[in-house]
Amino acid sequence: MDLLIKAHKVEMSPWKAVNQLSKRYEKYTHEITKIVIKEVSRILRLKLKKAHDEDLIFKGRIMYNPKDGKPIKMKDWKRLEKAIVDYLHIEREYLEKKMVEDSFFLGGLIQRLEEQQKKTWDINKFDLTKPDFAKFDFTDYDMDLIEAYKEGTGIYLQNVNDRVRAKVSSIIVEGVKQRKTKSEIWQDLWDSETDLNRDWDRVVVTETAAASNNGLLISEIRSTPEEEDIFMKGISAPGACAACEKLVHEQVVVLVPQPLESGERVKVDGKSYVAIWPGKSNYGRSSKNVWTAIIMHPYCRCTWSRWYLELEKYIS
Ligand SMILES: [Zn+2]
Repeated sequence: MDLLIKAHKVEMSPWKAVNQLSKRYEKYTHEITKIVIKEVSRILRLKLKKAHDEDLIFKGRIMYNPKDGKPIKMKDWKRLEKAIVDYLHIEREYLEKKMVEDSFFLGGLIQRLEEQQKKTWDINKFDLTKPDFAKFDFTDYDMDLIEAYKEGTGIYLQNVNDRVRAKVSSIIVEGVKQRKTKSEIWQDLWDSETDLNRDWDRVVVTETAAASNNGLLISEIRSTPEEEDIFMKGISAPGACAACEKLVHEQVVVLVPQPLESGERVKVDGKSYVAIWPGKSNYGRSSKNVWTAIIMHPYCRCTWSRWYLELEKYIS
């Protein structure tokens, strides 16, 4: 199972640049973890000077100099804990804004490319320095959706922040309670790095995929004359889950600008289709009620591509 997730992580979206953007933000968040652990270690003087020297390691266990291994004072830790919270808050604000805007904008830019370019263009070919959504004729309604995504992403990032703080706190506090040495606490801290990064990755992968897919769809709507029906076809990678295979992969749907009054079906030329719209998700729906959404699971690598019914005549 772990291997499967890893394989998916190599390429989550058929659009190369989306994967690269997500990698870029994963890297950014891993840097946050590193900074927190490093600073805590440095300020509490957890890392002993010679911890990496071979003669201090005995059967995989880091030996310590009892003189430097004095227990941590809780008042030192309390002061530091506040600094961590402040730091994480700043990072959350930056990420929820920049990551979501970059993703929506990238989706919009990808939509404007030729089919083949969409797949292969590198992230460096896109300028994300100043996302200008007016360029894609995004309306106030669209901008509101972006704001809603920022809010949502902010909540998920805050959850990770809380876990980072709680994890680091418990390592320090439990370490003090159990009279662990500083080098043992240092080791525990660094052992938590992978775990914390996994939490970040989940949010980054999910949010960049959702936002870029939505950006692409909005751009599709705004670049198509209103009277024209927009058909989209779902793409899921091999190995996608049963739900995505059934509800997304190879499914032809109709893209509408806003949620329908009720249900998800629309009629075009007498034929009934499933409709999708920017922001459509399975949030709040029970597992028995899953419906076709913009993105169901980030690791299933689903996305949507413009489809022309006339094309069907040439296939089969
Ligand atoms: Zn899936």
